[in-house]
Formats: sequence, C-alpha cells, structure tokens
Amino acid sequence: MKTLTKQVADPGIWLTRAQRPKCGHNDVLIKISKTAICGTDVHIYNWDDWAQRTVPLHMTIGHEFVGTVAEVGIEVTNIKVGDRVSGEGHITCGHCRNCRAGKRHYCKDTQGVGVNRPGAFAEYLAIPSINVVKLPENISDDLAAILDPLGNATHTALSFDLVGEDVLITGAGPIGAMAAAIAKHVGARNVVICDINDYRLQLAKSLGATRIVNTSRESLSDVIQELQLEEGFSIGLEMSGNDQALQSMISYLSHGGKMALLGIPGKDTAIDWNQVIFKGLTIKGIYGREMYETWYKMIAMLQSGLNITPIITHHFSVQDFQKGFEAMLSGKSGKVILDWQT
Ligand code: NAD
Ligand code: ZN
Repeated sequence: MKTLTKQVADPGIWLTRAQRPKCGHNDVLIKISKTAICGTDVHIYNWDDWAQRTVPLHMTIGHEFVGTVAEVGIEVTNIKVGDRVSGEGHITCGHCRNCRAGKRHYCKDTQGVGVNRPGAFAEYLAIPSINVVKLPENISDDLAAILDPLGNATHTALSFDLVGEDVLITGAGPIGAMAAAIAKHVGARNVVICDINDYRLQLAKSLGATRIVNTSRESLSDVIQELQLEEGFSIGLEMSGNDQALQSMISYLSHGGKMALLGIPGKDTAIDWNQVIFKGLTIKGIYGREMYETWYKMIAMLQSGLNITPIITHHFSVQDFQKGFEAMLSGKSGKVILDWQT
C-alpha cells in the first residue's frame, strides 16, 4: 500500500510502499479516505530536535484521518465493515490507574499514531477498536478528517465555563482559531485572539473571534481599555507555544483568572510566579483529547451549529503531498487536507 514515510534522516517526507498493517483480535483496519496535516507532521517533515529524538526512521506518519472500516478483529463487536469512522490517535495502555478510571488522556504510557507506531498517512491504518469513533452522516469527510485538532481545541476551550466570560486566546493557528469558534458558540462575551500573522488572524475572525490583535502592532492593554474590561480577561487559552505570549497572558488575566495551556513552550520558559500566586490564577495543562468526552462534545457541537469549515483552506491529492507541506510551511494556511482516493 501507499504510505507517507520518514525514509531518510533529513528534512522531507517520502511517498513509498509498505505492507498493509495486520488487524489484531481487538483492532479495526480502516481504509483511509482523507487525512489532514498536523503541526506534528511538519515537525517530523522538518526533522527538528524533537522529531529526531522521538520518531524512528521509516515511520509512517499522520494521525488526522477519516476512512471506512475494511476489517474488524474477531473480538470486535461494536464496529462493522463499511462503517465510516475517524479515531483517537493516542493509544493508551488500558490498565494503569488513570486508564481504569476512565481518564485515558492521563495515561503515562500513551503511544502516538504516526509518531511511535505506524500512522494514518497510508491506504490502511490499524488501531484498537476502543480508539475508533463512528461518524454520524451529517459530519462531512473533510470535518471528520480534522476532528483530532478540533478535539485539542475543544478539550482546551471547554476546560472552564466560558458563558459570559472574556476570553483571550494566544495563537491563531488552526487550533487557536477553532477554539475561538467554540468559545463564541458556547456563549463567551469577548473572544479576543492574538497572533503576529495577519492571514491567520483573518481566518480566526471568519471563525468567530470578536476582536483580532496583531501583537506586533497593537498592545493588549489598549484592547482591554477599548473593550472596557474592568480588569483584564477572565479566561486564557494559550495556543501558540510562544514564551512571550504565555507571559503576556499571565499579565492580562484578571484576579481569579483561569488559563489552559495547550501550546508547547520552550524548555526554559520563565513564568512570573508572583502574579500566579497573588492573582490566584488557575493553570491547567492540556494534552490531547479527553477520551472520549471530547469526541462526544465536539461532534455534538458540530451538530448544533458550530461552524469551523473556513479553517480548511487547502485540498490536495496525496500525490501532491509536497504542495500540502509547503502550504503548511508558508504560514498562509489553515488545515490542509490530503485525499487518498484521487
Ligand atoms: P501553529 O504552530 O499552527 O500555531 C501557532 C500560532 O502561534 C501561529 O499562528 C504563530 O504565528 C502564533 N504565534 C507565534 N508567536 C506568537 C506570539 N508571540 N503571540 C501570539 N501568537 C504567536 O500550531 P497549532 O497546530 O494551531 O497548535 C497550537 C499549539 O498547540 C502548538 O504549540 C502545538 O505544538 C500545540 N499542540 C499541543 C497539543 C497538546 O496535546 N498539548 C496538541 C496539538 C498541538
Ligand atoms: Zn494507561
């Protein structure tokens, strides 16, 4: 079968052929129809320090997908051949305390599809049946292919009650922009998003951000005055991984403010702990998606009118995967879809 694989220890990804994965007793084999490129795939493409430390050579990459069930293991009873599915790309151990408590997103032995085990940029993907999510008919293939990052946005945004709140999102990448859409959908008052990239800020606006701020030109303190916020933002969603963005979020949160951190900061990022303590801030780290509450909530929100379609900006056939990675690298893209059936 065709796969996109990290063949050589240099920047790039290669379209190659590999054995179709075996479908174990508890597994589901999925024929992939569409995939989306994640920032993680771009890290692997660039072969940065993290990728070199983490990803073995010859790994088939990718973890954002939609497809159709081609085969089910003999123990699988809840999924059948022909079902249209997506799935959770974090494979958890199933027997640690957190897994057994239904908190699989805290499993310390999580394996990543397309990072530590063969991924979804392939004609076929095998994953445990518990990770498979059946799709309702009214979720399109394009949207189903980006449920994984929508799940990151959902997990982060729904960490706190947003109804009537003033929300600051730092980072208008695809996940930040989708978080803006969710915050608006669930009833936040102000949804302010900042970035240093105008293209992405415009995208976030089209998804529902109520005020976009290019922090290379405008200051958040002026925006706080303009919006007549008494003290600053009550909720912060950090989605840039940028040190300065994290620090400014801490400064512009009000007393009693709450922040959820999804963006992955540099190793030596400094935090003003005095502000955290004297303002009584709550900080929550976010990894992946809650299994499987996030999947339930995001599909339900899509069915109740959450519109994130403008975030999909590019479509390519898998043969043109190089153009897809170039679009991601350009900074002028939202989500990029690769079609495996053209
Ligand atoms: P992305 O890299 O596409 O977006 C990050 C955005 O932050 C970019 O648009 C960039 O211009 C912007 N940015 C850079 N400096 C900034 C600054 N000073 N102020 C404001 N914005 C700034 O990433 P994404 O795919 O949208 O993901 C968001 C973040 O979440 C990334 O850091 C990613 O690594 C991380 N992530 C974490 C998890 C998790 O499970 N914790 C999962 C997926 C992604
Ligand atoms: Zn576990």
